[in-house]
Amino acid sequence: MICSLCSTRCLISPPVVKPLKPLFLQHQLYSRAHLASCSCYGYFSCLLNCIHVSFSCFPHLHGETRGNEAEERGTRKYQHPFVFNDPIHGSIELHPLLIKIIDTPQFQRLRFIKQLGGVYFVYPGASHNRFEHSIGVGYLAGKLAEALRSRQPELNITERDVLCVQIAGLCHDLGHGPFSHLYDGLFLPKHENGSCDMLDHLLKENNLEPVMEKYGLKPEDDIIFIKEMIAGPLQESKEQEWDFKGRPEEKSFLYEIVSNKRNGVDVDKFDYLARDSLYLGIKNTFDFHRFLQFARVCEVDGRKTICTRDIEEDNMYDLFYIRHRLHKRAYQHRVNKVIEHMIAEAFLKADGHIEIEGSGGRMFTLSTANEDMEAYTKLTDNVFEEILKSSRPELQEAREILQNIVSRKIYKFVGERKPSRIGKARLLAGKKLAQPLPDEEENNLKPEDFEILVINMDYGMKDKNPVEHMHFYSKKEPDVAKIRTEIFSEQLIRVFCKKIDEQRLWFGALRLREVSNSSMGVKPKD
Ligand SMILES: [Zn+2]
Repeated sequence: MICSLCSTRCLISPPVVKPLKPLFLQHQLYSRAHLASCSCYGYFSCLLNCIHVSFSCFPHLHGETRGNEAEERGTRKYQHPFVFNDPIHGSIELHPLLIKIIDTPQFQRLRFIKQLGGVYFVYPGASHNRFEHSIGVGYLAGKLAEALRSRQPELNITERDVLCVQIAGLCHDLGHGPFSHLYDGLFLPKHENGSCDMLDHLLKENNLEPVMEKYGLKPEDDIIFIKEMIAGPLQESKEQEWDFKGRPEEKSFLYEIVSNKRNGVDVDKFDYLARDSLYLGIKNTFDFHRFLQFARVCEVDGRKTICTRDIEEDNMYDLFYIRHRLHKRAYQHRVNKVIEHMIAEAFLKADGHIEIEGSGGRMFTLSTANEDMEAYTKLTDNVFEEILKSSRPELQEAREILQNIVSRKIYKFVGERKPSRIGKARLLAGKKLAQPLPDEEENNLKPEDFEILVINMDYGMKDKNPVEHMHFYSKKEPDVAKIRTEIFSEQLIRVFCKKIDEQRLWFGALRLREVSNSSMGVKPKD
């Protein structure tokens, strides 16, 4: 008989077929005699003793020690696939190289970074993390690349291309810090650059370049290609038409799969819209399966780009509509925004007092940890609890802010206005805050007792219609059926009061009126 774990023929005949333990009935065709003579044995006994069944116990299932030639070369159907059960995509198979990347401390770190930061304090279901989103993006990236490959062989998409696209999808968020975008806004200008630095560190620390070679990749070129798919061209030049180094211009469409700079339609968005909607309990009307079904590469202005059918236009409006809806109802929710603002205040106060050991024993703080990937690997949402549970006097101020969050003593919402003109609101509102308004001082209120947050929301391309930046492979003119508004962005100015007793909130209302009057020339009715 053939062992379906390691594909070798059992040398002991006749094999004694006995079920092992009821939990592993699916393996009942293994004979104990075979196992005793087989390299599976060590791993299998490990499995029997192990409550947390982990495929790390089976390195050869990752294609490391066994498997046919096709698997060694990284073909799509793996002999012994690692299958994840994902709430969005169902049972998904990943390439053995992706499993190698997932099973590293640098990737596992994403288990401890909330996908939606402070939204979890508002929506109790929004507890999902960057880890599962990254796996979903890696999977979808492969699906889209494979769909184009089988539909249009003339594009010459290779196995190597598909594998690189999958790795880029998997690793695109490696650079996120605590509470995802909250840390970006505070200390890291662009998390995509952090993702590239962390990818380099991950490959080096885990010695994965030889494994990449084993699966047919050329690390020297392909690591550049993967990083370019995550963060764009590593060096931009004005003289050259084509700034990317990893792949030639004929394969420009590959750069649109994970992070599409042309119109924002990419598999990162497909996954987070579906995943966030599910965990928030908000209905998602965009169907990414249809996009995968209709995606096709066409030439637009001399460059190959991913297009979809004209009949899919409504579906594309749904994509931008659900994105806008999630921003309005969750990402920019006023309680979420004020809680994130308070967490940011606490982080700034705690910054110099948080010590994280990095490479060569050097110490880093909350704000500088992203400069050293060894230190950054240790920095996750856990810093919130570290501050909250600390008894150190130098963290007292930060601790008090976080204690107020968990006991729901958050800054009071005073009101919000829509300015008539979008743009300068942040600057003008900030200027206005510097001076106390009449009667505020008498009531023991200072300008710093107020927080003014400016919220920008749009359909992904400021005031432009993103669907007009898409290309459809029909010659028909777009026939817009719904969600077509003249202006695709709006702005709100929100005022919060740090003194949370009801009597003084009235002054907040006056402040809001002053700010909106002077900043935008708006005359509020009340
Ligand atoms: Zn992402």
